[in-house]
Amino acid sequence: MTMTHSLTRSWRVRPRLSELVINWHITEACNYRCRYCYAHWDGNGRELIHNIPATAQMLENLWLYFHPKNLANPLRRQMDWQGVRLNLAGGEPLLYPERVSQILLAARNIGFTTSLITNGSLLSPAVTVQIAPHLSVLGVSLDSGQSPTNRLIGRQGPHGQLLIVEQLAEVIEEARRCNSSLQIKLNTVVNALNCHEDLSVLLQRLAPQRWKILRMLPVITNELMVSDSDFQDFVARHQHLGHILCVEDNTEMVESYLMIDPLGRFFQNASGQSSYRYSCPIPDVGPEQAFAEVGVDAAKFCARYLGHLEDASV
Ligand code: SF4
Repeated sequence: MTMTHSLTRSWRVRPRLSELVINWHITEACNYRCRYCYAHWDGNGRELIHNIPATAQMLENLWLYFHPKNLANPLRRQMDWQGVRLNLAGGEPLLYPERVSQILLAARNIGFTTSLITNGSLLSPAVTVQIAPHLSVLGVSLDSGQSPTNRLIGRQGPHGQLLIVEQLAEVIEEARRCNSSLQIKLNTVVNALNCHEDLSVLLQRLAPQRWKILRMLPVITNELMVSDSDFQDFVARHQHLGHILCVEDNTEMVESYLMIDPLGRFFQNASGQSSYRYSCPIPDVGPEQAFAEVGVDAAKFCARYLGHLEDASV
């Protein structure tokens, strides 16, 4: 094969994504205590969201580095993308609704599209009206429709408060009223306690555009691990919702997200390791050096979008 033919073929197979998603876990703090929680990071220091100038600078630098036209970004050797979405996650980001609102606005002004993933417990009507107009996707994590199961998983507030599905349905309706193009996404972590449940009625009530089913990933803890057959049975039980389903088994979750921790470091959940790998803080060394220190598996990243997954936010 000539050099020209080889180049032509590699150009043809080059994936083109609609958007690259950067997941920033803005805080480790959470009002829930899920036993499988992945939101624990090494290191000490003040979380970056409380430093307003450093946050603004990091967002500007991320935008320049991940901008679709920045040919210097190493991911550009393997794929193209048309836009960049900043997804805010936690911990529970809505413990800081004012900062969330300011960051969403700043990110949109820079050029990002924006999304948020929350456990839903602090999504009051007032907060919803404040943030929904700035979002393209609102994600809510929801593992069970059963109070005892939610309690056993640890999905309850410090005084035992549980998420009321009817209240969640009302705020989702309010969010849709505030932003008619808003996409609603639900995330469910399948674990040893909810793996036999049927969530179909709950899903029909909340009517999300996407439902991401994640298999409990034993990075921080092995607690609540689910067997292959129980996970597959859970997916099969909900297969009739196939048009909104997005399923992630453990291998698909490893090294395939772009993730920043609360201290402003890229991190990855490398296969076979019991803790995360971290870069230096982006505000200290810039996104280029920080990203080079950790990286991402571009093939898995693309598979999320181009296969059945199509979504690379946490
Ligand atoms: S809601 Fe999310 S961040 Fe909070 S404890 Fe549960 S898994 Fe962790």
